[in-house]
Amino acid sequence: MKTSGVEFRGLRRVFGSTVALDGLDLAVEPGELMALLGPSGCGKTTALRCVAGFEHPDAGAVLIDGKDITRLPANRRDAGMVFQSYSLFPNLNARDNVAFGLRVRKVPAARRHARAAELLELVGLPEHGGRYPHELSGGQQQRVALARALALEPRVLLLDEPLSALDAKVRVTLREEIRRLQLDLGITTIFVTHDQEEALSIADRVAVLRAGRLEQVGPPAEVYDRPATPFVAEFVGAMNHIPGRLSGDEVTVLGGFLPVDGPIPQGPEVDVLVRPEAVVVTPLAVPGASAAERSPSAAGDRALVVASSFRGSSARLRIRLGDLELLADVPGHDAVRLAPGTPVTVDLVHRPVLVAPSTRP
Ligand code: ATP
Repeated sequence: MKTSGVEFRGLRRVFGSTVALDGLDLAVEPGELMALLGPSGCGKTTALRCVAGFEHPDAGAVLIDGKDITRLPANRRDAGMVFQSYSLFPNLNARDNVAFGLRVRKVPAARRHARAAELLELVGLPEHGGRYPHELSGGQQQRVALARALALEPRVLLLDEPLSALDAKVRVTLREEIRRLQLDLGITTIFVTHDQEEALSIADRVAVLRAGRLEQVGPPAEVYDRPATPFVAEFVGAMNHIPGRLSGDEVTVLGGFLPVDGPIPQGPEVDVLVRPEAVVVTPLAVPGASAAERSPSAAGDRALVVASSFRGSSARLRIRLGDLELLADVPGHDAVRLAPGTPVTVDLVHRPVLVAPSTRP
């Protein structure tokens, strides 16, 4: 399959008083899966529709393969799109849905049926060609939509929240399959989502959008571990802000020293940014001691678990430490011994931390 890069150059789109895209600059490499991630209304769908040709920017350009396609009609752009709502033709069976674009292009019946069968096989539905959309599950309909988007061998695949209408389990399975298919075909793909876990797990790179602009772009681990701005830090996962004190390239935080990663702001008072999984929580109670036997002085002004939400493989704890509230993720099997009310000590995993200017008065 041919594949091409996509470039957004200073893309701007305004609807009345709403600025949907405010000078978006972003380059998607050939063969790459780029996730566009951001809160509702940040312009993700508008950006995607500008590539498809369903939306026209007020300023800026979209390039495919280095060619400016901003003024090209949708049907000459070589882009296949899958929408959030399944959007199959209800009166056509799966095979005819997949072959629809080929029919429009007057491909002879035998060839288009063969191609539709091949594509249905590719998306794991070889036996379902005769079924109508209402006879397919949501996940199956999205597979058919994917096959339909691939039928014309597009250079670019555009996926607009393709999984958000599906239930959790199907969502994970299908996202893994989309990724596998995308890697097999090597097709440049832009995947719009507001779900950070989905973006981090499927993409080569994640572009975080905010108010119609690019806030940060990078591989998932980089965006997660080294967010460029507080907005990215919060959007791609929970983040603790713990007061610390800079000395050189180290910071004192929760009574220990940690090396500082990334830019060092004016000190000495700073916020240390720590993900919940880097907070180490240890119960203060003596093993086997009942709550009544725990020494109140041992708990003293130490930390206390105030809430816990069990998530199966992990649990997220809310911990009060003086005026501070921290989030900590612990293994699910520790949730019982770290139940709300448990006095604990809190440490941080020893690794470089990000620091930001202090937000405290
Ligand atoms: P969501 O995740 O909710 O789909 P999004 O990030 O995809 O959000 P867009 O759909 O691109 O955001 O919309 C960006 C902004 O532009 C929103 O404020 C939206 O209401 C507005 N907008 C988009 N399309 C139109 C339109 N056709 N007419 C008027 N306003 C629009």
